[in-house]
Amino acid sequence: MLLNCGQPLPLLRHTDVPPRVIENFILTGYRFPNYSLRDCLLSAFRPTNETGNFWTHFLPVFVFLYYFVEVFGWEGAPPCDAPFFYPLWNYFIGVFCLLMASSMAHLLNSMSLVVREVCFFVDYGTISAYTVGSSLAYYYYIHPRAGIVDKEDSSTSCYASPDFSTFFDTFYIPCACVVAIICVLSCCNTRQQWRKHRYIIRTLVFLLPFLVSSTPVFYRLLTRSPYSAPSSSFTASTSMPSFFYRHCLWLLVSAIFNISKFPERLAPGRFDIWGHSHQWFHCCTFLSILDELHMIKAEVRAILLSPALLLPPTAPSCLSGPTVASTYGVMLLLQTTIVSVIVLFSWRANCIYGGQREQLEKDHHRKHLKCH
Ligand SMILES: [Zn+2]
Repeated sequence: MLLNCGQPLPLLRHTDVPPRVIENFILTGYRFPNYSLRDCLLSAFRPTNETGNFWTHFLPVFVFLYYFVEVFGWEGAPPCDAPFFYPLWNYFIGVFCLLMASSMAHLLNSMSLVVREVCFFVDYGTISAYTVGSSLAYYYYIHPRAGIVDKEDSSTSCYASPDFSTFFDTFYIPCACVVAIICVLSCCNTRQQWRKHRYIIRTLVFLLPFLVSSTPVFYRLLTRSPYSAPSSSFTASTSMPSFFYRHCLWLLVSAIFNISKFPERLAPGRFDIWGHSHQWFHCCTFLSILDELHMIKAEVRAILLSPALLLPPTAPSCLSGPTVASTYGVMLLLQTTIVSVIVLFSWRANCIYGGQREQLEKDHHRKHLKCH
């Protein structure tokens, strides 16, 4: 926030901001909770306790993009708008929205207490939608390779055993969507109730979509590869387990940072601007996404190396392949539901915090006058 004298307002101590804004063990570097949009955007280039949170999810957008587009240049890859890539694009939408919403939530949350709440509701919503984007990619590329005929055994069935096939074909994506909605409802609620244990609840709540989304990977790890041993597809997919384990490791480390509030817990005030737990949490979540992308790419490559497995098959497939309805349609339906949940919680937040805006403005004017 710029004063007439051209100087930005000094950053505030935790004792000078509303209790709602205080982060545990962060003592200084707070922005005034009534910034304009312009002030918020400019604060990205000023060391506050949100600057690191913004950049640790904004810069990764470009890193992710760099690794993502590589797939379309691979030999044998269909055009980027082919149905084969619909699930991959939905995964991209999930990751892109997550990183952008998270970085913007950290940048814009100083506009008002209500905007702060809305920012983080959107943040939780995009994390939930991302888990469904991942599920779509897992469903079509990792298992059960829906719509893809098994070359060696095309006359019989899909890769999954009948029991698991029923689960994957019928319940997997609907389950992922329901769990995503439960997640967004629970996380939004931790901002209005259950506040004492909010970090533990939010972390545990996101364990559920991880477990549901990852079932195709668990199945693959516990059974066999769908590719025959000497094939190039088999070789391409051998790196999948190690990417998945690393993906899990980064998620675990990010959860530890989020719950423990390490390192600022050990030295309150020392990591107010740089190096506090939320920045490490962001870095670890991005590394987990990057390993997940590498894992999905390894599986896409394995499919591309087996042209007979590519859609549209001449032989009838055991399951239908990706369609606009089964990928973008699912994502759109989910996003619409999530937006409705966010609107509901935002309305409640406005009832709770809307009245405090005037008080904050009075505080601001008082401080503004003091400057002169
Ligand atoms: Zn964050």
